[in-house]
Amino acid sequence: MNYICLVEDEQKVAAFICKGLEEHRYKIKTAKNGAEAEMLIATESFDLLILDIMLPDINGIELCRQIRVTDQQTPILMLSALDQVQNKVSGLKAGADDYLIKPFHFGELLARIEALLRRKHNPSKEGHVLEFDDLKLDTWSNTAERAGKQIILTAKEYALLELFMRSPNKVLSRDYIAEQVWGIDFDTGTNFIDVYMNYLRKKIEKDFKKKLIHTVIGMGYIMRSER
Ligand code: CA
Repeated sequence: MNYICLVEDEQKVAAFICKGLEEHRYKIKTAKNGAEAEMLIATESFDLLILDIMLPDINGIELCRQIRVTDQQTPILMLSALDQVQNKVSGLKAGADDYLIKPFHFGELLARIEALLRRKHNPSKEGHVLEFDDLKLDTWSNTAERAGKQIILTAKEYALLELFMRSPNKVLSRDYIAEQVWGIDFDTGTNFIDVYMNYLRKKIEKDFKKKLIHTVIGMGYIMRSER
């Protein structure tokens, strides 16, 4: 059973995360501030750490940096209410492995945790760069490039692209995409998937001749490199 340490001062958020993770068979311990976190981390052995950035006694980025002085191995996922690129960059520079912006759907948090643990347990099996044709996705820095040119993606576009890159040459239905990326079943229809798919396709295809994502009428979408 994986053992997770959550550092979060907002009780509601902490309770929401704990409940969800426990339902998914994780063991979890929480700290309300940096001092508590340091004590826990020094005395117990965790498989993964989740650090909120806004803590009462220390900035989560600084806490991450301190942890990394002695521990370079344990995956660290940062949480932040501030949708700022700067925070993300600072967090990753401080040694965090991934970054999630609040509010998030629980399914998204779970997917990130699972990916980090998979990577931890099979470091050689799964590289952190996914490649398809001339498209590259770095799952550590959450950045994408095509033919060496960087593509700026929003969090959802990134999640969508990662989903396709992990299942190339396979038709993904709108329901499946909604469930994987948004973490919910959409009874109200999945038109918004088409909207997001259009955003994503524009970004990865607009400067290139070759299309990489194709609509399969009546079924969904496929990532395929046409010859
Ligand atoms: Ca906080």
